[in-house]
Amino acid sequence: MLYKEPAPIKDRENPFESMMSRFNIAAEILGLDEEVYNVLKTPTRQVIVNVPVTMDDGKVRVFEGYRVIHSTILGPSKGGVRFAPDVFLDEVKALAAWMTWKCAVVDIPYGGAKGGVICDPFSMSAGEMERLTRAYTQALVDTFGPDQDIPAPDMGTGPREMAWLMDEYSRMKGSTIHAVVTGKPLVLGGSLGRVEATGRGVMVSAMAAMDKLGMDPAKSTAVIQGFGNVGAWAAKLMSERGVKILGVSDVSGAYWNDNGIDIEEAIEYKNNNKGRLEGYENAEKISNDELLVSKVDVLVPAAVEDVITIKNVDQIQARLIVEGANGPTSYKADNIINEKGIMVVPDILANSGGVTVSYFEWVQNRMGFKWTLDRVNERAERIMNESFERVYAASQKYNVPMRIAAYIVAIDKVAMTYKYRGGF
Ligand code: NAD
Repeated sequence: MLYKEPAPIKDRENPFESMMSRFNIAAEILGLDEEVYNVLKTPTRQVIVNVPVTMDDGKVRVFEGYRVIHSTILGPSKGGVRFAPDVFLDEVKALAAWMTWKCAVVDIPYGGAKGGVICDPFSMSAGEMERLTRAYTQALVDTFGPDQDIPAPDMGTGPREMAWLMDEYSRMKGSTIHAVVTGKPLVLGGSLGRVEATGRGVMVSAMAAMDKLGMDPAKSTAVIQGFGNVGAWAAKLMSERGVKILGVSDVSGAYWNDNGIDIEEAIEYKNNNKGRLEGYENAEKISNDELLVSKVDVLVPAAVEDVITIKNVDQIQARLIVEGANGPTSYKADNIINEKGIMVVPDILANSGGVTVSYFEWVQNRMGFKWTLDRVNERAERIMNESFERVYAASQKYNVPMRIAAYIVAIDKVAMTYKYRGGF
């Protein structure tokens, strides 16, 4: 077969439009002038590459990949690379813009970018993944750079791919350049604390929000959707603060225990079971849909986009939603959440612990010096708490939900910087 139809776009809101709807509300409240609005609403650069890769069977396959630089107003652009069969340009554009807002909310000197390659990493061998990662890096060698555009892992990629990316880039440039990518293995210039950074930030934001709502962590319950890097760490750290985690889930389904899930045990089970909770016994099996609408105080979606939508938002019972995942709540569900009086710590704030420690990794690489775990955690926690307070203050000042407040804080910072830097 010479031509294969691309995978259909999922039945969901266009992620770029969904991001823009929130951006528009915040821009209007801020009275953003049209010139700046026009600069920020579109990505600075969108690169599409087609990279030929020899597969294990000797045949050459051509993979389509993207790198979207949304903005470099605050500094070099930063954002992960997603390897997935259904990744598409509008999704990468939205994720790139989210990175701009995320870096601005936590006040780190980065712009926003995102990359993607249409491929199925779970059906590819390590050799095929390595050749694809190196080919993608070669195709983008003039885009990437420690002072230009700094990739990181996202869905379908991890420290292994970041090591290949760093190595390929370094070979092409003729010297070892650690700071071109973050999320590297520890021995290759990765940072202590990076693996758990996003989950830790989710926990810190959850604690800050519970404090504002007058909730006692030790008397509160939570469910976590997604038991991967972000979800499992958030579950572990929240349970250490006394929150009873009644349910957790992954692609295999959801697992519920009235007395609380033993998170350490569930993580150990998952680690010995190819990363999945499937077959986990010390819990009752329920569906992912049931988990989201269960009677708990805190809901942490930490899996995929668009899981809280107009289809289920009416039934949500949690008082607090802390968005570990990017874009778990559809734009249309926002209004109903607000009407119900549920507080949402939005993705661009709640999961920004990851990019914060990525920034620390880049700083350490440039210093040629390693920080201790305590230093990483203490600085990241301070940044998360300060950012939470900034967003909370904006929500009070403008009388808007936390999500719009986070966009206001971010857009204001980028717009002010743009004004100082000036255009043509
Ligand atoms: P991961 O691949 O480690 O884990 C994802 C988890 O979600 C897995 O347990 C998987 O089984 C589960 N899952 C997938 N589809 C599901 C579904 N439909 N229902 C329930 N569970 C499902 O990924 P991750 O790194 O933990 O990322 C999770 C989310 O957090 C993504 O939206 C990602 O963009 C976002 N995020 C991650 C980081 C990071 O540092 N890893 C940083 C910021 C944001």
